[in-house]
Amino acid sequence: MVLSDPVTKIKNIGGEREKLLASLNIHTVGDLLEYFPRSYDDRSSVTTISRLAEGEDNTFIARAVSDAKVMRIKKLTVTKLLLGDGTGNIEAVWYNQPYMKNALKDGQDYIFTGRVNKKYSRLQVDSPEFEAVNPDGQPVSGGRIVPVYSTVKRLSQKVLRRLIKTVLEDTELLCGEFLPTDTVNKYKLCSRSFAINNIHFPTDDESFFKARHRLVFEELFLLQIKLLQLKGTVQAKPASVVIKALDYEPLTERLAFPLTGAQRRAVNDICADFSSGSVMNRLIQGDVGCGKTAVAMTAAYIAVKNGYQTALMAPTDVLALQHYKSFCNIFGELGIRCSLLTSSLKKKEKQAVYADIENGDTDIIIGTHALIQAAVRFKRLGLVITDEQHRFGVRQRSVLTEKGDNPHALVMTATPIPRTLALILYGDLDISVIDELPPGREHIDTFAVHTSYYPRVYGFIRRQIEEEGRQAYIVCSAIEENEKTELRAVEEYTAQLTDGAFKGLNVAMLHGKMKPDLKQEIMDGFAAGKIDVLVSTTVIEVGINVPNATVMLIENAERFGLSALHQLRGRVGRGGGKSFCILVSETKNKVALERLKTMCSTNDGFVISEKDLSLRGPGDFFGTRQHGLPEMKIANLYKDIDILKLVQQASTELYRRDPELELPCNAALRKKIEDIFENGSEKICL
Ligand code: ADP
Ligand code: MG
Repeated sequence: MVLSDPVTKIKNIGGEREKLLASLNIHTVGDLLEYFPRSYDDRSSVTTISRLAEGEDNTFIARAVSDAKVMRIKKLTVTKLLLGDGTGNIEAVWYNQPYMKNALKDGQDYIFTGRVNKKYSRLQVDSPEFEAVNPDGQPVSGGRIVPVYSTVKRLSQKVLRRLIKTVLEDTELLCGEFLPTDTVNKYKLCSRSFAINNIHFPTDDESFFKARHRLVFEELFLLQIKLLQLKGTVQAKPASVVIKALDYEPLTERLAFPLTGAQRRAVNDICADFSSGSVMNRLIQGDVGCGKTAVAMTAAYIAVKNGYQTALMAPTDVLALQHYKSFCNIFGELGIRCSLLTSSLKKKEKQAVYADIENGDTDIIIGTHALIQAAVRFKRLGLVITDEQHRFGVRQRSVLTEKGDNPHALVMTATPIPRTLALILYGDLDISVIDELPPGREHIDTFAVHTSYYPRVYGFIRRQIEEEGRQAYIVCSAIEENEKTELRAVEEYTAQLTDGAFKGLNVAMLHGKMKPDLKQEIMDGFAAGKIDVLVSTTVIEVGINVPNATVMLIENAERFGLSALHQLRGRVGRGGGKSFCILVSETKNKVALERLKTMCSTNDGFVISEKDLSLRGPGDFFGTRQHGLPEMKIANLYKDIDILKLVQQASTELYRRDPELELPCNAALRKKIEDIFENGSEKICL
């Protein structure tokens, strides 16, 4: 057998099983070997019947001591069998598995694992898994650490374990090494054969950790080499942008607040990058509301003071506009010029902005994707900032960067992109985490309610507005992801509220299809406190900052993912006082309910994104697909940062020596990479 053989080459696989395996994406012998366990059950301690622990899973060796009895109780078939091992007897019970009657051979020992419970003052073991104990050959389901796989109903754990064990026993050839010997030695990796064997059937904890370490290393290494080949660079570029003056006090003095410690640390990191002689490539990661804008302003100020232009790209018109206004506010009196460039500008206005950018008549250019149009040419672009980076592709960021001569780059995001993923994607990207919110922020109380609560909810919002002088957001979405229906939903709802629950209050609406002037007018009105309730689509999802707003009501909350909900909620609790988030939903969907529960239980963006990851399940591993990377089979992008660091070192060394993997010692590696990324199903699209 070789790895590329179809699974049907394996004994006992054909027809039905082949189909079941295919449904798990296992087509070849190699696929089966790389179908790693989801978890493990430690069944290594084997007990006797006299010592069974009630209420727990137990593993013991026994044989049948009487014939099985099959009873029918209403629609249930109950099969009972008395087991004994010389220390005592216990009854095993199976439900709706009448074939258990003849499943055990007389006089044969089996190893059983199952939950032991007390029924009518006697112990019984419920639906135990069992496997014959033979003098030749180790059991796979008991008496050891046992793998647990993600599987489908008709393909049992036991069968899957047996199949994998068969392949493992068949030949060691299967696990041929493809990592270069130097790498294996230098990084003290165990052999591939050891790793594959022990990832499925670990002999002990230590072997398991060694095996996993090796396999995570291998998976990340292959990806990293491929990415290096795609990107073609490893060296940090020397900076051509020269930044000497680092005094940013004049800027921070103009802010309405002192920077928090975390903001200051981020700014210090940026200053260190500016003076390092290499190009800055820094990710500022911080939860919604932590104050990333002030950090961006500081960086922009320094760049401008050193004679360079700064471009700030935001994902939506509304956010670009908001940034433009707050930048004008701060920079205007410092004699620094800001411009706005979005696709909704009139042709003439655009032309004028293009000219200003090209002639150097403007210093800070804030805009949307419009910034990456070919017509935009900078005079001296020194710094590129992307806000809400997760909304952009890697390509878009580099197109903007290419408009300058190696400008510094700062990217900002509230999504806690795992450090590993950031490193994989951006390679030399450094990360500053803003792990502190500005003082005085209070917990945002979050409630999930049924539509029958509308009267109370509306009453509450009205009191917030009339008695506390606050403002509220209401976010609605349409059933279909369709702009027309979404628009109608907002229009109808606004009309309904204006004449109904919020009669006498100032209700306005905002959606993406509005004329830019009108959008601006509404946003200004809301920011100035003239509008009490803003009914909107998710255009307000990212970045919008109106601290006096303290209520966020989200309609049909089940339609949003966790990160969108967290972003939306982040529009309140921005320093204006006690804030509330109300999630309205009638859903009965389990996963959706779980999302709502998560939102009610925590405000912490990191906790939320981990939950998001677990709810999405392995098929949609956080961010990798979204970022154009293949799914990880074993590496955990949250936890394997230490291994990734080794991998980056190792892959860079190798890439420098033999970028195209032409040396004979790298031939096996080259073939493996071709197999998975070029001929196989894994695709990378950056
Ligand atoms: P985000 O990180 O989500 O982009 P913003 O930059 O929009 O957050 O800031 C959120 C709010 O916090 C704004 O109203 C801003 O003025 C305020 N803010 C930022 N930094 C501080 C600070 N150090 N002290 C007090 N308020 C701050
Ligand atoms: Mg922001």
